[in-house]
Amino acid sequence: MSDTQTWQKRALDLKPQSQIFIDGKFVDAASGKTFENFSPSDGHLICNVASGDTEDINRAVASAKKAYDSGVWSEMNPRDKKAIMLRWAQLLNEHREELALLEAIDTGRPIADALSVDAPNSARVIQWYGETIDKTYDEIAPAPRNALAMVTREPLGVIGAVVPWNYPMMITSWKLGPALAMGNSIVVKPAENSSLSALKMAELAIAAGLPAGVFNVVPGLGSEAGQALARHMDVAKIAFTGSGPTGRKMMQYAAESNMKQVSLELGGKSPQVVLNDCTDLETAASTIAWAIYYNAGQTCNAGSRIIVEKGVKEELFAHLHKFLESFVVGNQFDPTTQMAGLVSELQRDRVNAYLDLIGQDGEKLIFGGQKTSGKDLLIKPTLIDNVKPDSRLAQEEIFGPVLVAIDAKDEAEALQLANGTEYGLAASVWTNNVARAHKFARKLRAGTVWVNTFDMLDVITPFGGFGASGNGRDKSLHALDAYSALKTTWVDLN
Ligand code: NAP
Ligand code: MG
Repeated sequence: MSDTQTWQKRALDLKPQSQIFIDGKFVDAASGKTFENFSPSDGHLICNVASGDTEDINRAVASAKKAYDSGVWSEMNPRDKKAIMLRWAQLLNEHREELALLEAIDTGRPIADALSVDAPNSARVIQWYGETIDKTYDEIAPAPRNALAMVTREPLGVIGAVVPWNYPMMITSWKLGPALAMGNSIVVKPAENSSLSALKMAELAIAAGLPAGVFNVVPGLGSEAGQALARHMDVAKIAFTGSGPTGRKMMQYAAESNMKQVSLELGGKSPQVVLNDCTDLETAASTIAWAIYYNAGQTCNAGSRIIVEKGVKEELFAHLHKFLESFVVGNQFDPTTQMAGLVSELQRDRVNAYLDLIGQDGEKLIFGGQKTSGKDLLIKPTLIDNVKPDSRLAQEEIFGPVLVAIDAKDEAEALQLANGTEYGLAASVWTNNVARAHKFARKLRAGTVWVNTFDMLDVITPFGGFGASGNGRDKSLHALDAYSALKTTWVDLN
């Protein structure tokens, strides 16, 4: 069998866990309801997933609260907590092929990406936060000598995480790592398209020794399970990644319930700016292409706009064209595939609707651009030139393999265009001039800026955005603050 057939067979042989995970056990939804989970790449029914609703969320939050209040995790010796997190990370590594397969059949992403990026990075995030547990110190404030003022970080209690389908395992790990390191309990509501990897992660957490109830997973519909979690009176914080409209609802649910904290990691329309002193346009072109076409553009920080200063467009486009002609698009189980189809028919139809706009206002199609229909979810990498900065194509998050190009007459206009959307998640600038790069980078309104590169990402640095891209930051030591509250304790020494 070829590698492709081997992966395909292994995917079909998977027996994914698809029940709700509460209090360390897999159980059916209280209502007995399930929803069908189809593979995006070939449309086959993978499994029926338990569809949690309010009652299941209530059970999961009660279990998480009981675990939290008992102190079994929240008050465990840091050294022991660390050992459990590290054991869990090791199990995630040992099961990486299964985790990658689950992620691949659920989302349609290339198996090569799931194996090399999603699975190992999720394990690394859990390991990294595990290692922080016995290395983060609290503070003593500079109070007068007759008093002691201690500033300690306290866990918040029960965290609710509502996560999307584009990088299910990785984004879930960004919530789990700091939440658990700080001693909280957590209930995860995965996206309907991608429940399987979170359930496997939970199973492995228990196997590693995480006490039952500390980490629960309730698959279900956003409008039911997601809403019930975000409205729950015993949930102290909602950590959300997904779309702007749903993020807005999260704030509303919080306001209408217990004013829980809400952190939002929303989308973007990240600019890739090429200034005309950039000489390595070949490297720029391939990096720019990867920045948008990786995961078929279904990436919150996808570099979905290129802003090109006058003078370099022709050469840049020639390199982009060459890159795209050799870009391997197709079967997700072929280990050489660089881009596969989109996650769902719904998402494909959303992208199709943007492709319909091409040419309506002078846009020029350079590459790709064909819509697909029926079960065909593979939209070819698409490059559109002459896009008006205020058009929908230039302003809205498409979340598909669509790159729009906008001309800038000079550096000042390039900056204005780069900052000219409601978003502010990520940005890049290409230039040979170090001083110009630094000055430009400081002026870009984005949570992450790359100079002469894109997509350098790691758990060691914070990730999140300005404006409509949300608030709060995932990853790095800063995320520990997002899952804890400061407490001051004064002691009178007189
Ligand atoms: P979405 O609605 O924001 O979904 C994200 C998560 O929120 C899912 O778990 C979803 O559950 C849940 N949810 C949906 N409605 C909810 C509600 N009323 N209350 C509580 N939870 C709710 O995103 P989508 O519909 O899958 O995708 C729409 C667009 O969002 C995409 O085209 C893309 O532009 C953007 N997006 C951004 C990111 C990102 O990384 N920033 C990720 C995904 C999508 P269900 O799965 O059951 O709906
Ligand atoms: Mg699925």
